[in-house]
Amino acid sequence: MTRTPSIVDRIGSSGGRIPFSVEFSPPRDADAEARLWRAVREFEQMQPAFVSMTYGAGGSTRDRTVRVTGALAEETTLLPVAHLTAVGHSVDELRAMVGAYADRGISNILVLRGDPPGDPLGEWVRHPDGLEYAEELVRLVRDLGDFHVGVASFPEGHFRAPDLDHDTRYLVSKLRAGAEYSITQMFFDVEDYLRLRDRVSRYDAEQGAKPIIPEIMPITSLRSVKKMVELSGSQLPRELADRLDRAAGHGPEEDRAAVRELGIELATAMGERLIAEGAPCLHFITLNFARATREVLDRLGLASSVG
Ligand SMILES: Cc1cc2nc3c(=O)[nH]c(=O)nc-3n(C[C@H](O)[C@H](O)[C@H](O)COP(=O)(O)OP(=O)(O)OC[C@H]3O[C@@H](n4cnc5c(N)ncnc54)[C@H](O)[C@@H]3O)c2cc1C
Repeated sequence: MTRTPSIVDRIGSSGGRIPFSVEFSPPRDADAEARLWRAVREFEQMQPAFVSMTYGAGGSTRDRTVRVTGALAEETTLLPVAHLTAVGHSVDELRAMVGAYADRGISNILVLRGDPPGDPLGEWVRHPDGLEYAEELVRLVRDLGDFHVGVASFPEGHFRAPDLDHDTRYLVSKLRAGAEYSITQMFFDVEDYLRLRDRVSRYDAEQGAKPIIPEIMPITSLRSVKKMVELSGSQLPRELADRLDRAAGHGPEEDRAAVRELGIELATAMGERLIAEGAPCLHFITLNFARATREVLDRLGLASSVG
């Protein structure tokens, strides 16, 4: 396996300025793949600390995900992080996936439990030969080789956790099992991120010292952000939802330009506050488009340009 830098090393060596990173998702078809590559090439110019590729269960998407993530490692200057979910997989399949990533020189893996395909909020059923929780997959991946593992964290608490103490306890278990950092679910109130950070530090100071990378979503469509938030078992804060509703207007179609402008303004304000609060890196959901994230990075003064 080619040794690549770990995410913790990479974000710790960005030379003063706060690093940023971006999340891509696997393209569904050839057109979407071409669009992804346009975004990849644009981001390459902006020098993100790393890029992550989400993982969708299901045969053809899975094969495309491995191929495209491999191409990011082999054909770009970017440092890829492969997401890997336990849901629907036997342990043998999970081992094979990790092996496929290792063969392509990918040693950074974001380990997740995943949600039930079809109905993410539905009952979680373990594969008969699979794993129950992300913590077990952290151990499996670590046992398989010299991998650098990250996990998910939840500023508002995970929707299946009965309370925030439970949520903190199992996040800390994943970190103790060997995860080196976490990336949060998207959120819209920076206070939730700060409270998460405090909770983890209070629970276990050593694990609390590991980076918690906040995820920011520059909103460009009210309809799609509502759907994404709903599918993650969360909801938009009331005041934000009202502001977005007002920007979207009352026409048959939402006013995308107004929603986008507000979304970029909000993401920039979140970024400024997170930088002031000492966040280790800003991770952006891109939906495989570069423009909105670039605008936020420009406003934050974080977009390097090479070439
Ligand atoms: C940054 C990020 C990236 C993501 N990327 C993807 C992706 O690429 N593909 C995808 O399908 N999904 C992705 N997700 C969604 C994720 O899979 C879901 O949010 C899932 O419901 C939780 O995953 P987890 O890894 O946090 O699970 P876990 O850490 O296993 O936690 C799941 C629930 O079980 C509880 N729990 C954990 N361990 C125990 C235990 N030992 N005993 C009792 N309760 C326990 C937790 O408190 C939590 O409520 C991502 C989420 C985030 C935040």
